[in-house]
Amino acid sequence: MAVIAYACTAAGCGWVQESPAKEAGTEAVVDERVAHNAQTHAGEAGFTVRETWPWLVPLFIVNLIWLTVSVIARLGVWSVAAVFAPQVAMFPTAPWFGLIEILAIGLITLSYAKKGPEGASVARRAFAGLTMSAFLVMLGNVVLVFVLFAFVAFAFSG
Ligand SMILES: [Zn+2]
Repeated sequence: MAVIAYACTAAGCGWVQESPAKEAGTEAVVDERVAHNAQTHAGEAGFTVRETWPWLVPLFIVNLIWLTVSVIARLGVWSVAAVFAPQVAMFPTAPWFGLIEILAIGLITLSYAKKGPEGASVARRAFAGLTMSAFLVMLGNVVLVFVLFAFVAFAFSG
């Protein structure tokens, strides 16, 4: 899911190694970094670590739209919005539902932030974790809406 870039810190050297997170710790990929350092800089260079996520920007935009729809639903400007943000519609009668969602987002964010590769930014990873978990919770809401609709349709179909 993440792409990890190791950039050589030696002055004037632009060597960058990019690999999927799953492969970054494998022997062949680690050896390539060690070999570059040994052959080019006599082992005296280091590497900065930077993680990127191809899905981060699209998911962030989807989350922003969801947040906007949630605010519209909360203000009651457009009643249809509540269908897309059931957590807002449910909050007055079942506040535990929204609290469980916030707790789920917080726990996923924390556990994702802690598992990063050595030297990588924890803040960047926490932001990615927050974006991902908010999106997953939103998907959960959509599934819930469809299940409710299906249940109501089934109940009234006789
Ligand atoms: Zn280098």
